Amino acid sequence: MWQRKKILRTAGIAFLVLLAGAGAFTLYLDHRVRTEFEGRRFALPARIYARPLELHAGQRLALPDLEDELRELGYKALIEKPDPAREAEGGWYVRSGERLDVGLRAFVFWDGPQPARQVRLAFDGGAVSALTDTEGRVALPNLRRMRRTRALKLLTGLPGVGRKTASCVLLFGAHVAAIPVDTHVHRVSRRLGLVPDKADAVTTQELLQAEIAPPDVYDLHMLLIRHGREVCIARRPFCSRCPVSALCPRVGVVGAR
Ligand code: SF4
Repeated sequence: MWQRKKILRTAGIAFLVLLAGAGAFTLYLDHRVRTEFEGRRFALPARIYARPLELHAGQRLALPDLEDELRELGYKALIEKPDPAREAEGGWYVRSGERLDVGLRAFVFWDGPQPARQVRLAFDGGAVSALTDTEGRVALPNLRRMRRTRALKLLTGLPGVGRKTASCVLLFGAHVAAIPVDTHVHRVSRRLGLVPDKADAVTTQELLQAEIAPPDVYDLHMLLIRHGREVCIARRPFCSRCPVSALCPRVGVVGAR
């Protein structure tokens, strides 16, 4: 009996010691955390994003809707352009029929500061039909930093710019891997069976684009054009001296030499 009491008393003392130790450790941790992080709450990285107002030719946007957006952004509607100092500062717009001159304010975008500048927008049928500077020149954004499909859409939205021209601008002018499909690329791709025989130029571009790795697009384009001009010509291609004749199903070829 006496032995049992002694064991219980020892266990109780051990429990109290453990409890006191755990309490002391908790207090120590609390002190460490407070010491380390006190006053640093506002040093945490933080970034505030705003919704950019995107404008480009071909965009579905009615002129009154854009005016509403500009008013919400604090832009002032003017009857005519302001004095040069205010004009350079931006923050205003002037409507003239279906045309809108806008003095854009300077702002900081994700790729760096953008200066204040003026743009002229023309509207037709509820869409932006042209976006130029005030002297009628087209100002393009940095095409290399855009997604290929978006850059293609932007360029083909310009008056008189088709898909082939837009792809050439992207491939040769901006080093974006967009494959232009001209008559040679189209013909050789179909004869080689790279795309279906009935594929039009747009489908051919999309199919080639999906299959070709971006770093190979430039070389493939140049090779297909050269091959189409020198060997796989439109009438009676030179299949007998073609370096890829063993691989070619010669789709639709008549009178090969
Ligand atoms: S084999 Fe004839 S059809 Fe085929 S790619 Fe060569 S030239 Fe053109």
